[in-house]
Amino acid sequence: MAPAGPLNVAILGAGIGGLGLAIGLIKRGVPVTIYEAAPEFSSIGAGIGFGPNSLNAIDLIDTRFRAEYERAKTANEKPEFEHCVFDAMYAEEGFGEKRGWKQGYIGAPYFTRSSAHRKDLLEIMCSFIPEGTVKFNKRARSVEEVGNKVVVSFEDGETVSVDTLIGGDGVKGITRQLVIGDVAPELVAPTYGNMYIYRGIIPMDKCKEILGYHAGDAKWFMAYRKGVAIYPISQGKEENFVFFNCDDRPWNEGHSPVPCTKEQMIEDLQGFDHRLLRLLDYAKPLKWPTFHHPKTPTYHKGRVAIIGDCAHASSPHQAAGAGQGLEDAVILSHLLALVKTPEHLGAAFRAYDAIRRPRAQKVVNTSYEAGVIYTWQHPEIGDNMDRIVANANQRLHWIWQHDIKGDMVKAEEQFYAAIGGETADMTQGLAEKQLSPASETREVGLAA
Ligand SMILES: Cc1cc2nc3c(=O)[nH]c(=O)nc-3n(C[C@H](O)[C@H](O)[C@H](O)COP(=O)(O)OP(=O)(O)OC[C@H]3O[C@@H](n4cnc5c(N)ncnc54)[C@H](O)[C@@H]3O)c2cc1C
Repeated sequence: MAPAGPLNVAILGAGIGGLGLAIGLIKRGVPVTIYEAAPEFSSIGAGIGFGPNSLNAIDLIDTRFRAEYERAKTANEKPEFEHCVFDAMYAEEGFGEKRGWKQGYIGAPYFTRSSAHRKDLLEIMCSFIPEGTVKFNKRARSVEEVGNKVVVSFEDGETVSVDTLIGGDGVKGITRQLVIGDVAPELVAPTYGNMYIYRGIIPMDKCKEILGYHAGDAKWFMAYRKGVAIYPISQGKEENFVFFNCDDRPWNEGHSPVPCTKEQMIEDLQGFDHRLLRLLDYAKPLKWPTFHHPKTPTYHKGRVAIIGDCAHASSPHQAAGAGQGLEDAVILSHLLALVKTPEHLGAAFRAYDAIRRPRAQKVVNTSYEAGVIYTWQHPEIGDNMDRIVANANQRLHWIWQHDIKGDMVKAEEQFYAAIGGETADMTQGLAEKQLSPASETREVGLAA
């Protein structure tokens, strides 16, 4: 393991991105403090599904994290859906049976469907973070670079000064302003994803009473400009559901969910099978706007970098946003462990940006495109479900099969090239040596 660097590293935000980075840093011997606005960990978001790339990232952050995730994860219930990311069905009455539609299987032999309740995931992640590392009730009011330091001022009046700050403060994060505010002020605020959602969690026995055979596995019931995705969480004890509603109007109601009535939700989802509407009994009467960051010109400035949704918030249609935050955590924890003096932070951040930004932004944009296709709005594909399924079966491989370990090696090469330092013997791969023991790291999904 790398010796502890002299850096004083702070992370803003204890979401999946911030905690993932913290675990990676702690594993690599780099001390870190996390400042979190909330009084405790948030369970908003309910179920998080992970593809093979996300599982690889978890493994590369810390193999023990992967082991704990394996214990807590929820798979699809029926063996025939083991390798299915979702089964595409019609949302209309009868789920398409009248048209002869039986199944719209989307998946791959090397993919195994799994997800976890966000609360369980955060609990697991916290188990690797020493007590006192996360400071709760610390909402940052401002972040600025002063001389060689980053100064964070909190709403409670406290100020801290650190060598580097990593902004994991989510889609509306204030660190985004510091990093891109000068170069692209128009891109600081998140872009409305032209969609709002209703969501909830239903006990699995109730879900089975309502949906019968269709409960227990990941399904996507589709309609024109609407839909609902369901998937099991909490080791099969609950089913998570998310109703999508396309919306071309500008969203002028702020970034937080807006109260609504059950009648409004039902009105919005007219034409859906009556069984799907019964799920709304378990939805909070809240309209959640979706936001994303289709363009982010850089992920760093000076001694500050951004990760996770703060850098590349994505619409949820490829179930890949959190996984991208975890990939950020792999690369950045690896690079920060190599930094021996704050002067080398710029080189580390340039390598991070070069490796991570093209891929993460491509995920953002293809997710939006997937949302257009799955809501039958694509000009060529329309409501042709065979073509939608064919498209969905092609579009995820590049995300799932990515070589993250290769990214670590490239990032390390770029870092050493920039500082003009001695590169380790890359034939053996320093990237591997820093993971102890390397042989524990499983490769998932790299071979179809
Ligand atoms: C409906 C839906 C379904 C999804 N499903 C999936 C899925 O299946 N798979 C997947 O990979 N992704 C999924 N995602 C995306 C995923 O939820 C996000 O990408 C991920 O949670 C983002 O994590 P984060 O840590 O970057 O940000 P966040 O989770 O937003 O965390 C940011 C943290 O920063 C804190 N914070 C904010 N401002 C401040 C401040 N000023 N000072 C201090 N702290 C601050 C916040 O309190 C919060 O704890 C889904 C998203 C949605 C909306």
